[in-house]
Amino acid sequence: MKTVIVIGNGMVGYKFCEKFVAQKEYRNFKLLVFGDEPRPAYDRVHLSEFFENQNAKALEMASEDWYTKNGIELMINERVADINRDNKTITTANNRNFSYDYLVLATGSSAFVPPIKGVEKEGVFVYRTIEDLESMLAYAAKLKSTKPKAKAAVLGGGLLGLEAGKAVMDMGLEPHIVEFAPKLMPRQLDSRSSQVLQLKLESIGLHIHLSKATNQILGDKFITGMEFGEDDILDVDMLIISAGIRPRDELGKACGLEIGVRGGIVVNNKMQTSDEYIYAIGEIALYNQMIYGLVAPGYEMASVAVDQIIGNANNIMSESIDMSTKLKLIGVDVASFGNPFMPATKGHSVIFENKTQHLYKRINVSLDGKKLLGGILVGDATDYSMLHQIYLNGMPIPSDPSQLILPAGDGAASFGSVIDLPDAAVVCSCEAVTKAEVCCAVKDNGKETVKDIAKTTKATTGCGGCKPMVTDLINETLKSLGKVVKERICEHFDYSRQELYDIVKMKNIKDYDELLDTHGKGNGCEVCKPLAASLFASIYNETANRQDTIQDSNDRYLANIQRNGTYSVVPRVAGGEISPKQMIAMGRIAQKYDLYTKITGGQRINMFGAKLHELPLIWEELIAEGFETGQAYGKSLRTVKSCVGSTWCRYGMDESVSFAIEIENRYKGIRSPHKFKGGVSGCIRECAEARGKDFGFIAVEGGWNIYICGNGGATPKHAVLLAEKVDKETAIKYVDRFLMYYIQTAQPLMRTAAWLEKLEGGIDYVKDVVINDCLGIVDQLDKDMQHLVETYKCEWKEAIETPEIRAKYTHFVNSTEEDENIEFVALRDQKMPTPWV
Ligand SMILES: Cc1cc2nc3c(=O)[nH]c(=O)nc-3n(C[C@H](O)[C@H](O)[C@H](O)COP(=O)(O)OP(=O)(O)OC[C@H]3O[C@@H](n4cnc5c(N)ncnc54)[C@H](O)[C@@H]3O)c2cc1C
Ligand code: SF4
Ligand code: SF4
Repeated sequence: MKTVIVIGNGMVGYKFCEKFVAQKEYRNFKLLVFGDEPRPAYDRVHLSEFFENQNAKALEMASEDWYTKNGIELMINERVADINRDNKTITTANNRNFSYDYLVLATGSSAFVPPIKGVEKEGVFVYRTIEDLESMLAYAAKLKSTKPKAKAAVLGGGLLGLEAGKAVMDMGLEPHIVEFAPKLMPRQLDSRSSQVLQLKLESIGLHIHLSKATNQILGDKFITGMEFGEDDILDVDMLIISAGIRPRDELGKACGLEIGVRGGIVVNNKMQTSDEYIYAIGEIALYNQMIYGLVAPGYEMASVAVDQIIGNANNIMSESIDMSTKLKLIGVDVASFGNPFMPATKGHSVIFENKTQHLYKRINVSLDGKKLLGGILVGDATDYSMLHQIYLNGMPIPSDPSQLILPAGDGAASFGSVIDLPDAAVVCSCEAVTKAEVCCAVKDNGKETVKDIAKTTKATTGCGGCKPMVTDLINETLKSLGKVVKERICEHFDYSRQELYDIVKMKNIKDYDELLDTHGKGNGCEVCKPLAASLFASIYNETANRQDTIQDSNDRYLANIQRNGTYSVVPRVAGGEISPKQMIAMGRIAQKYDLYTKITGGQRINMFGAKLHELPLIWEELIAEGFETGQAYGKSLRTVKSCVGSTWCRYGMDESVSFAIEIENRYKGIRSPHKFKGGVSGCIRECAEARGKDFGFIAVEGGWNIYICGNGGATPKHAVLLAEKVDKETAIKYVDRFLMYYIQTAQPLMRTAAWLEKLEGGIDYVKDVVINDCLGIVDQLDKDMQHLVETYKCEWKEAIETPEIRAKYTHFVNSTEEDENIEFVALRDQKMPTPWV
């Protein structure tokens, strides 16, 4: 029996064990594993989750029992101090000696700490192990007890640095990111996408400092600041260093293995080091002159090393390694794949950018336009998995490649479905699981959930980036088998939005944590948190102020962020009717705060350019003048547009303005799966474009015609007739029910037009539900709507009257200073943000 010793029980060391014990040849070997951390291997990729639950067990890759059951001798808390290659032995720090036939080095990396003066001060941390996080949490708690508005910086604006920045924010400290390069994520993003990402991160509260070289860490015993240059100081109370990794190659060096110029143990494509009996895998291995700081290549190395040791010489490491990555930050979609920076001589780039919405998509295609070579997605990475697969499998792309990134109509993907991928397409690169394996597990083994697939195939158990694609594959395969597919919200809730709506309502749940504890799992994500917030609002009329950490960023500040980091202020002008007195008041306030004003398509006045700290001041004055929030930031009613109708117009059949005001006041504040708009026209000439709205009324001979499910925007849809010639009360009743039914049954972010399109039976079915009461639910729909109408509150009024809510409107958590980085230039008689360069 031969002995294999593994030094290092991290993710890759563990994967080696898992793959080894799965081989029948394993019975001819004895496996000894040494790890110097105080616990068995854990999921470092999801380390940040520890901040939320502080449950180290939940991150464990396998329990100590698992090692015992599989005949592996695991020695944790035991550092290997020396390798004697001549005798083929190792010695541990506890002075114990062991012999090996094969040695596997899986010692990984440690966080790189740049030699900055003062870096040893208390309050400076790295971000690598559970113990690091425990120390940070303890320090942050101590800080907060003495200084409630403490600041923490992260040194490094790469993938990990941004993850750490978000963790700082979640610890309740003011987060700052300090990056040496002039852009964020310099390895993955180009300058423009980095700018878009910066805006997005700033909108969720991160402060970004680019092109900053830290000269020294200030403070006596504890860190008090970072000095970049003379008079360029950032006061901080804590620092997390995330400036890259350094392979832990000290053992290899000491025993004379070949080491790379910048560290790492050199390996060949069999994972052998310069000593044929010693293998190196994971973040310690220098393969093709690179250290790959990702799990997927590490897992492939583990598999190669296992095969080489048991004698299967055919399994060698791939020549090129896929370094595509997706950032796992709540609320921030960022991904890059293939070659994100294509020089013009090698291909063409197609770019779609909308800075207002923090969206940037770039794809690089071959010169002949036939292949996808790489790309960057910021703001919306929904299509990442598909684009990544098209790139990996060299699949053909449309003759107009922009179709791959232009915004698709609601719900519809602009390119093929996952089911069209080749069978051999690797959907989970960490575990090398193909599309065919996932589909087979569904078809032949009856597996229907991601969890089942994970158990059977291991797909999704690595970095987890393939979960959306595996979910789609399961659903599409189930559909092809004629099975009903449940539209699950996300991995944290095994329910559709409609089911969760019913649960929240029936069980009277009003708090996200309670919902997660009782009906979900894990820590929640950027999909289920805002969705739950929207449900609480739709059911209880709860304002976005109450649980602001689960809101989208616009809802968090009750204002839409604009492209220079300022906000817009949009008071409600019901039906577009505004008195001269109100116009004067609004003009006075706009002048006082130097706001740009513009009349919107929804017949109200938008005021742009407000700084965060000005928002409560502006709203205080507006509310004193009788205005209320227009909720332009929410997934809720925007406006009810009207023509002047019979009040002034000689063609008018009825009073459209009065009706629009009544209706707008009725539905204001109601939260829904997506924004919705209304229109009222006084006659069929349709000056208010009511048929381009989610609901519209048109006065005709004998009453009002009601139209529903129309919209303008990117995918215009004409509304369809729900009822003809009804009186006003009946019209309101039908629209009440239609809206409530839509709110209760639509998928998240689904406009009414897309909802109707997907609804089996279409408009006839809606008529049956809301007019003929085929489901017997109209009484309940009426009651639900009445409740929302009666419990309306202006959330801006609540915000300015509640000191704790008001306190969040500062650019700097512990000071009332303004953000001086915001610049404007003159535009006609007003001002506008400085143009993008
Ligand atoms: C916060 C964070 C987020 C990440 N996110 C992602 C991601 O989204 N996607 C992705 O692909 N990758 C991600 N990574 C990187 C990924 O975690 C690493 O690539 C992976 O953990 C490397 O595994 P490894 O086993 O090679 O090294 P490690 O995990 O570093 O394990 C090495 C182990 O060996 C031990 N050791 C070292 N020397 C000795 C010795 N002499 N004796 C005994 N034991 C020793 C170490 O203590 C350690 O436990 C992330 C990393 C971090 C820190
Ligand atoms: S159409 Fe709408 S989203 Fe597009 S630029 Fe104009 S305001 Fe912005
Ligand atoms: S829709 Fe008819 S009533 Fe209204 S303004 Fe136009 S013409 Fe006049």
